[in-house]
Amino acid sequence: IDEQAEEAKMPQQERSPVTGSQPIVKYAGVTKSYGDLQVLKGIDLEMQPGEKVAVIGPSGSGKTTMGRMLMTLEEPTEGTIELDGELLWHMEEKGKLVRANEKHLHRMRCNVGMVFQHFNLFPHMNVLRNVTEAPRKVLGLSKEEAEERAVSMLGKVGLADKLKMHPSNLSGGQKQRVAIARALVMRPKVMVFDEVTSALDPELVGEVLEVIREIAEEGEMAMMLITHEMDFAKEIADRVIFGADGRIVEQGTPEEIFDHPKSERLQSFLQRFR
Ligand code: ADP
Repeated sequence: IDEQAEEAKMPQQERSPVTGSQPIVKYAGVTKSYGDLQVLKGIDLEMQPGEKVAVIGPSGSGKTTMGRMLMTLEEPTEGTIELDGELLWHMEEKGKLVRANEKHLHRMRCNVGMVFQHFNLFPHMNVLRNVTEAPRKVLGLSKEEAEERAVSMLGKVGLADKLKMHPSNLSGGQKQRVAIARALVMRPKVMVFDEVTSALDPELVGEVLEVIREIAEEGEMAMMLITHEMDFAKEIADRVIFGADGRIVEQGTPEEIFDHPKSERLQSFLQRFR
């Protein structure tokens, strides 16, 4: 057997353990349409383990849709998404690629945490229950185990003294910190933060960004940060993606994107934040 020829036929990903780890997230040729409206027009994106990727761009450019597909809340129209080397929306069955069933999606979903613009807390549960619910129901942890994890996570987001409060009695910033703790308590491989400060009063933005900054500094988890907070993106992102009209128009380091934007589209977008 001609080994080199064999090797050349192998997919890139299996061939290159030398160049580093396998991506934790990989979008390949992903499109998404709602009826006649094509929101994503072919997204290719890889995120490395621990990488912090900020996604910026005008409203309506498909940023949220990208995040929601990773969280298995939206299905791509075409293309594939992989999480830690495993297909998210498809699975192999008898060597054929088929649409994932609910069980597969459920298992994959546990690896992704998402925090939304509108906190989506359970209004009838106190803070502690909001955070213990998923570890108990989904991971099957005992009440004690779940509470231990939850209390530690709520401490981390500065809410150790609010365990028994109901969401309606919390400020927006506190609610958002509960939502962050609720996602983190599942120990996801990837976190998606979708404009988590957009619905907050300006004076509450800082406390939420501070919590995200601390999580980012711990370093282990990959993070997709969809945001209009350009200074924050610049500070914590390893890489910035600029999306417009359903495509990735430009990507690079924060310095490349914010200080030396190449495309006219990005230049005019950034003008608005100056
Ligand atoms: P962004 O996060 O960049 O603002 P979105 O991903 O939220 O963009 O939305 C992209 C486009 O898709 C928008 O035009 C939006 O109105 C449309 N859209 C999003 N979700 C749906 C849906 N469930 N049904 C129909 N259109 C949708």
